[in-house]
Formats: sequence, structure tokens, C-alpha cells
Amino acid sequence: MTKRAYNFNPGPAALPLEVLQQAQEQFVEYNGIGMSLMEISHRSKEYEAINAQTQELLLELLGLKSGYKVLFMGGGASTQFATIPLNFLKPGKVGSYIITGSFSEKAYEEGKVVGEAVIAASNKEGKWRSLPKAEDIQIDPNSAYVHMTTNNTIEGSQFSYIPETGDIPLIGDMTSGILSRPLDASKYAMIYAGAQKNLGPAGVTVAVIRDDLLAEEPKHLPVMLRYSTHAKNSSLYNTPPVHSIYMVNLMLNWVKNNGGVAEMEKRNVEKSKLVYDVIDASGGFYNGNIDPDSRSIMNITFRLPSEELEKKFVKESEQNNFVGLAGHRSVGGIRASAYNPVPYEACKALAEFMVDFQKRNG
Ligand SMILES: *Cc1c(COP(=O)(O)O)cnc(C)c1O
Repeated sequence: MTKRAYNFNPGPAALPLEVLQQAQEQFVEYNGIGMSLMEISHRSKEYEAINAQTQELLLELLGLKSGYKVLFMGGGASTQFATIPLNFLKPGKVGSYIITGSFSEKAYEEGKVVGEAVIAASNKEGKWRSLPKAEDIQIDPNSAYVHMTTNNTIEGSQFSYIPETGDIPLIGDMTSGILSRPLDASKYAMIYAGAQKNLGPAGVTVAVIRDDLLAEEPKHLPVMLRYSTHAKNSSLYNTPPVHSIYMVNLMLNWVKNNGGVAEMEKRNVEKSKLVYDVIDASGGFYNGNIDPDSRSIMNITFRLPSEELEKKFVKESEQNNFVGLAGHRSVGGIRASAYNPVPYEACKALAEFMVDFQKRNG
């Protein structure tokens, strides 16, 4: 094979080479059945096994023993912005949102489309540089739920604590941070993530929902929009994205076989530190977008002294085998997304490239 790119794409993003190779081996014929997995029924025993094992593995890696269901849904994390209020925001209640970046803002906007949504905390005025402190989060006691984004993909920040919401269900969009570090998942009533950042390819969104939130069937909603439909049918009410879920299965096994979530965190801290250290030692040539205590170990964001230099940085990085380093179009600058599958060597190469680039341009 040609040399693998240093893939820092923000999503869809890097997958481990081993996972790709495993999928390749099974692509044309799955487990000796004379067909590929994509050609068989989602109600076959082969797929049923994948469906069940993937759900179990995700719960296991999240450290959730019981009391939760894993759902596989379509529509990306963005559809969850709507299905959350549709399912849980009852008349007379409010949805509370902790706003720490553009994805949480979008979730809040969708909440307002469905019902009454309020802001429990926001750091927008501070240009997202730091996250709200626990004592700055004001939760309306009439909240149906509190929604937060644990890792802010575009801005490059991550929460270092879990907000205390008492009896009010806490919902976490973990699209870009799921399984990147251990956390007490039982503090959340619901966790969801589009797969294409840290869990596999695009096409499936996982939603992990506590049983009590699934007990009631929201009859006012079309069946496909009810979480209870997918929970009752083990995500087999209609045809799920079989191949994407199979890839998530391989990814979860990869995390497990590589030491689990604790080992992922160790690696992610080491990887991101390589880049943050260059930023901090650059005398201001590289300027981190986020205050050090709120920095993400997944998405590393920084600026250079001018947009011209940023363009040059991206262009030269591409000539040197790096991919995906341009910041999100809404913020500019540079963003290196180093999800679980991104190897240490890629981050080391990036750190070296940054030092060299500064020498030539600083
Ligand atoms: C990428 C992302 C989304 C949007 O995901 P889609 O699957 O494209 O809808 C939502 N939230 C966060 C935190 C993300 O990183």
C-alpha cells in the first residue's frame, strides 16, 4: 500500500489501519457465508449477533452495567438535536442548554423549534475560550433535561467535570469525545454520538438512553422519531445501516483490545501534549484558541500570526503528507483532530513540522 496519510480530518475521520484491513478481509464474503454482510437480511443471525455484540460492547466500554439501552439511529447527531426535545420536552417544561460552541448552539436552536429552550450557561461572549465553571451553570428547576456538549469539536475545548443536575436528566452530545477518556457515564441519562468521529464511519448515530426515559411511548410522534420504538425493537424496527454498525463493532473491539478507554486517554493525552507543547513553546507564533485548562485532547485548535501564514501552513502541510488541518470554515485557523485512531507518530510528525515551519517563517 502507499504510505498512509497523517490524517487529522475532523469527521469523517481516521480509522485504525487494522480495522480497515479486517473489514477488507470480510468485505466480499462475510464469515464464509457466500455473500457479503451488505447482501444479507438485517434479521439474519449473522447481523443479529453483530447488533447485540455492538450494543453490549459499547455499554461495557462506557462502564454501564445495566439500566440503559443502546440505539442505532440514522440522521447523524444533528437529528438528535431535534429528537431529544421531541421525545422529552413536555408542555410546561423547558429544555436547558449549556452552550459551549456551535454544535451546542445548534442543539439549543432545535430545542426552540420544538418547545421552550433556555440557556443554563454560555461562554459565547468569551469567544468559547474557556468553559463555564460548575457554579456558573444555572439550571431551571422546571427543566425536562439539561443538554451539554462534552467535547467541542470546532472550538477545541472539553469539559473536565460533569455538571451536577440532581434529578434532572443530563444529556451529553459526545460525538467527538466518546471513549476518548474514562468518565462516569451513569451521571448521564442519555449519551449520543454520530459515529464518524471516534466510533467508525458515517451513517449511524448511537444513542445510549436510561430505561426510565424510554418507559413512556410519546404517541404524539411518528413512530420512527420515538426512541421507544427503537428501544423496543433492539434497533431493528426498520433496516439499520448494517455496514456502518459492523464498522462500529470493529472499532469498539479495537478500543477494547488496545487497553480500553483508560489506555485511549493515556495515548490521547500524550498525543495532544506533543502539539500543545509546541504551541506553548512558540513564543506566541502559535496561539492556542482555548485556555489551557479547557483544552481538548481530541481537537487541537490554534492560530498563526496572519491568515496568510495559516494558508501557507495548510498548503505546506499537505505537501508533507498531512490531511485535514484547516480550521472549521466558521472559525478559520488550524485544527488538528487527533481522535482515538490517530497514531502517536502522526502527532509527532505534526509537532516536528510545526517547529520547522516556525523556524522558516517565525
Ligand atoms: C460533528 C458533530 C455533530 C454533527 O454530527 P452529524 O452526524 O454530522 O449530524 C454534532 N455534535 C458534535 C459535538 C459534533 O462534533
